[in-house]
Amino acid sequence: MGRRVRRRWVLNPPDNAYFLAETPSSDHTITLTLTEFEAMRLKHYVQLTQKDAAEKMGISQPTFSRMLESAHQKTTRAILEGRDIKVYGGHFNYRRGFVGYGCFDCNNEWEDESASKEKKINCVKCNSGNVYYLVREII
Ligand SMILES: [Zn+2]
Repeated sequence: MGRRVRRRWVLNPPDNAYFLAETPSSDHTITLTLTEFEAMRLKHYVQLTQKDAAEKMGISQPTFSRMLESAHQKTTRAILEGRDIKVYGGHFNYRRGFVGYGCFDCNNEWEDESASKEKKINCVKCNSGNVYYLVREII
């Protein structure tokens, strides 16, 4: 039986997914998976602890640590050897921020793409009018 690959959360994929070495010394591109990139982003850009970063990605801290180590090795190698870096692939699901509403009475929160501060709306769960506009930003 094959090892089950768990999906990880990637919250903020990079816009720029390909980095070219100025003077490439090799034809070989190094591929950094999106999960490896996300590990670096959370640890070094957002500056979370490994524990918090692992939690955000829905993985254990040892797994996070291995992922980060692999990302460091690949990046270091690419810089030293003048290789291109491509950020691509890996097992993950995207998770982004959303807009919607929350209910003061039953604590329900739900997503609504057309949500706005001005709109008067009732809770989809308990029908209360005691509802607030919600923008949930992920980091
Ligand atoms: Zn409610």
